[in-house]
Amino acid sequence: MDPEQPSDTTTGMSPISSPVPSSVIESLTKNDEPAPVQDAKYFFEDGDCVFLASGVLFKLHKFNLCRDRNSMFANMFTDAGGVAAAQTEQEVIRLDDAAEDFRALCWAIYATGEYIKTCAEGELEYMMGLADRCSTSAPSLLQMLEVGWFERIHQGAVTYNHALTVAEFYDRREFQGKIYLELREKLRSGPPIATLHGLSKLDLTHQRRDRLVLGMALLSNIFNHATSSEHILPIEACANHQQCQAHWNRYCRSNDNDEPLKRLNRVKDALQGSSPLCLVPHLTSIGITAHTQVADFFLGPPPVEL
Ligand SMILES: [Zn+2]
Repeated sequence: MDPEQPSDTTTGMSPISSPVPSSVIESLTKNDEPAPVQDAKYFFEDGDCVFLASGVLFKLHKFNLCRDRNSMFANMFTDAGGVAAAQTEQEVIRLDDAAEDFRALCWAIYATGEYIKTCAEGELEYMMGLADRCSTSAPSLLQMLEVGWFERIHQGAVTYNHALTVAEFYDRREFQGKIYLELREKLRSGPPIATLHGLSKLDLTHQRRDRLVLGMALLSNIFNHATSSEHILPIEACANHQQCQAHWNRYCRSNDNDEPLKRLNRVKDALQGSSPLCLVPHLTSIGITAHTQVADFFLGPPPVEL
């Protein structure tokens, strides 16, 4: 475990001192609750925003919190008109997070992406758990972690099996899809494999091997077969089939060697906005809708949310 990483909830605090006025401390203390304490590490004197999580005060820098414009933090500091709201010294933002989770989140935010490039696999796993717990407060952390982790898989610096185990545990389908695409590429660029036994060099469990083979078969079928037809059939209600055909040729027809993710995104582009009528039923019939993800070909359709 990295020495910088918060690991002890009892030593990371110190009694509250001057930076937050005593009147504010009084207002934060309800009934017999103990007075808030300031975090020993993430209470920067020159910080410009204060958070209270489970009795612990954190004073941070908005700049570090708002690098992702869509994050909860960025929204928190922006008023309804989209203008950055002034936060006075006395305003303290209350959070529902546990203090240790928020402290770990601070660590991840201030550690930046550099750490992800060199840390051990176990640290990546730890960060995934953290990013999952703080996915409401800092949704971009999950994405940042997965991008960095995938890059290290691609370089061969860490194993795809460990990443798959963690991605399965946290139900990160998109991450799994990217890893299976990487495995697919590994097979395609390696020596020919003529038997199922030949796949054993990938050292996958039977379930993962089956998912890989299924995904490869479906992707191949869709992009090299189902989208190879020159003409798309008109449906009865279509009044401008030339436009449908032009869209088909431009976005959907297989005539290059783009990798599947790019191709899928291109096909989905054809479904955006006022897409030509005939494409929707045709693409639906081969299993592609605006919601289709690459992971669906390997893992099956996502579970339906009730
Ligand atoms: Zn049409």
